[in-house]
Amino acid sequence: MIDEQLVPRGIYDPKTLEAMRKVPRHLFVEEAIKDQAYGDFPLPIGRGQTISQPYIVALMTQALGLKGHESVLEIGTGSGYQAAILSQICEKVYTVERINSLLVQARKVFDSLHYLNILTKLDDGTNGWPEYAPYDAIIVTAGGPKVPEPLLEQLADPGILVIPVGDRGVQDLRAVTRKDGKITEKTIEFVRFVSLVGDHGWKSG
Ligand code: SAH
Repeated sequence: MIDEQLVPRGIYDPKTLEAMRKVPRHLFVEEAIKDQAYGDFPLPIGRGQTISQPYIVALMTQALGLKGHESVLEIGTGSGYQAAILSQICEKVYTVERINSLLVQARKVFDSLHYLNILTKLDDGTNGWPEYAPYDAIIVTAGGPKVPEPLLEQLADPGILVIPVGDRGVQDLRAVTRKDGKITEKTIEFVRFVSLVGDHGWKSG
């Protein structure tokens, strides 16, 4: 996975690569598809949702530029894999999921691996998680029509928010940074994510 999918496509950050090497991706998918866990594609995780392709997880992680001391908010826990990767390279991960059964399963895996710096919450993540704001980095792993305003409000200065924005089918993966009060935005790549559903996302799944 590392040598064939990540490095040749431009994943170079040592922390990202080390985390991708360390976290057992097969534990985040169902027993029946475990043998496909390290393949170059997304996989179903139930309830119409997916665990992202390894390359996309790595690309988004690398884009955050984490050093180790950060507190990171993730919207869309899903399988928990992205949160697990982040937990290896930052201080604390706060992750929000709207589907209870997915969150319960993800939490089981976090516990079994003793990933103790991940906090979870069942909620509409388009409203962020105000209690622990501001966050040094925010990552949204579902695609919405726009950048949810509450997430910008909860982003630290300096801070970076990585989010797929576009229509239901295809989105551009954007990096929104705040520095000295100024917001700048750039597009990293075109991507396909499941829908971000909520107050500041799409109105239905
Ligand atoms: N990061 C996940 C990707 C899961 S797919 C992983 O590594 O497996 C995206 C997830 O976002 C789905 O589980 C979906 O239920 C969730 N989601 C969509 N809209 C949401 C919202 N408003 N708040 C929280 N989670 C949301």
